[in-house]
Amino acid sequence: MEKIKEITKGKAKSLFTTSDNNLLVMHFSDDTSAFDGKKKEALLGKGTINNQFNAFIMDHLERNGLETHHIEVLNNNDSLVHSLKMFPIECVIRNRASGSICRRLGTEDGLILESPLFEFFLKDDDLGDPLINDEHIISFGWASKEDIDAMKSLTYKVNTILSKLFIDSELILVDFKVEYGITRDGRILLADEFTPDGCRLWDSETLKKMDKDRFRQGLGDVVESYHQVADRLGMNIIVD
Ligand code: C5P
Repeated sequence: MEKIKEITKGKAKSLFTTSDNNLLVMHFSDDTSAFDGKKKEALLGKGTINNQFNAFIMDHLERNGLETHHIEVLNNNDSLVHSLKMFPIECVIRNRASGSICRRLGTEDGLILESPLFEFFLKDDDLGDPLINDEHIISFGWASKEDIDAMKSLTYKVNTILSKLFIDSELILVDFKVEYGITRDGRILLADEFTPDGCRLWDSETLKKMDKDRFRQGLGDVVESYHQVADRLGMNIIVD
């Protein structure tokens, strides 16, 4: 399936139209950014590992009964996905406190939460993706009550399935961000990506950070760490 026209260019991914109206190509680039684009760098090989990492996770979720937009890997950096109408919302689940919640609530990094914590954020770079709640979503018409309930219950399901997958590979899923979209016939599908760019993964024994915090905090070996995670999960990363 050939890429025709770029329709969205994100900080690390782009979407292209194809000859089929219902299908898009998602391109994973080496570009990496943090702090609302203030820190930027191209990390050689990151697009390729993320493309295959994402496919592995999406396939695992599908095998566990969750519908996703992912169809297949096309080449090193491209995957074929279903075209969706995206909700302008990010869904985060935290199993431990880290990142923005520590700044917001003065919590220590790594605090184990009594139960997984769900949060919504508005996708708006200019505003720095602010924290929002169900009431904001309904009042502004970003999604319906039914959509909110579906996004929450699907995200908790993702957390259960992936926490188990990672802990079996001696990794703690500290937190993650996912996004959803809706098909023309009204089905809500998990969209966007699931890679170490959008989650926190710590070694379960040493608590070493193995995700994008290595980039954010200048810890180095970013792509190497993503490969180590992939190896632990038993992924067979193929580079053409
Ligand atoms: O920044 P914060 O601590 O709220 O991030 C929570 C989780 O969501 C982290 O795993 C982070 O990588 C992810 N995230 C993301 N994209 C954003 C914001 C957060 O992937 N725009």
